Amino acid sequence: MQLTFASEPAPTGPHGPATAAARRQESRASADARGHKGPMNRDTPGNKRPMNGGDTPGARVNEDLVVAGNGFVVVLDGATAPAGVESGCVHSVAWLVGELARQLTVPLVGGSEEPLADLLAEAITGVGRVHGGTCDLSNPDSPSSTVSIVRVCRGRLDYLVLADSPVVMRYRDKQIEVVFDDRVDLLPEYTLEAVRRLRNSPDGFWAASTASEAAYEALAGTRDLEDLDVVAVLTDGASRYADRYGHSWSELLELLQEEGPAELIRRVHAADAAAPAGKYRGKRYDDATVALWSL
Ligand SMILES: [Zn+2]
Repeated sequence: MQLTFASEPAPTGPHGPATAAARRQESRASADARGHKGPMNRDTPGNKRPMNGGDTPGARVNEDLVVAGNGFVVVLDGATAPAGVESGCVHSVAWLVGELARQLTVPLVGGSEEPLADLLAEAITGVGRVHGGTCDLSNPDSPSSTVSIVRVCRGRLDYLVLADSPVVMRYRDKQIEVVFDDRVDLLPEYTLEAVRRLRNSPDGFWAASTASEAAYEALAGTRDLEDLDVVAVLTDGASRYADRYGHSWSELLELLQEEGPAELIRRVHAADAAAPAGKYRGKRYDDATVALWSL
């Protein structure tokens, strides 16, 4: 089994975010995350926004994260908070993503065979314990993240997909299965108010935030490992090579195998730069992460 991966923040500079809103979001995210790199930052429960210290002017923040270990891969994509929205949380999106990943990977590194939904529910609850003292976890705009997990366990491949970071599996007979949680693409409207109302609701979509029951709304299943050839886990900033820019999932996997994850991301960012303004819903540029597991 061989694992390769790449993770890149959204481009900035001359090819960077094209809209004022995107620039605002990015500068806000950068400010938040820089705050967490300060030398006074200690990862203690209830840690307040730490002092600024090691600022890197212009540093790009990646709100995606990939963590891999012996027999598992976890990919997360934090949802960038819209400018001006009060989330009730003193932490950055990148903090939430990192803390969720930390809580999820401790049992996975330890070889846990618990159902992935249980592990995710416990991680969401655990993150809530870490910042419940400083932050209003009842705020509907609390930071949130996608979570996708694949794990080898007893000759099988378990998967879990919560929100729009798909898992793509190719079988040895060349059939392709895409586990794609598209509920966030099917909302009746996308105003701030509507998304707030529909997040973690049965009529809307589910993401990892403050409600542990979201874990049981994920798409989860298990497949015979010996039937599988490759598995890819991608955030939507990378999966758009197929679901926005029209390549087949088979082409995406072939590109990953032949050229590697970094080349897929390079091509997606080039397509993002060339896309006509306003043609697609959602951000022009996004953080992009790909993990490719050859089984
Ligand atoms: Zn918080």
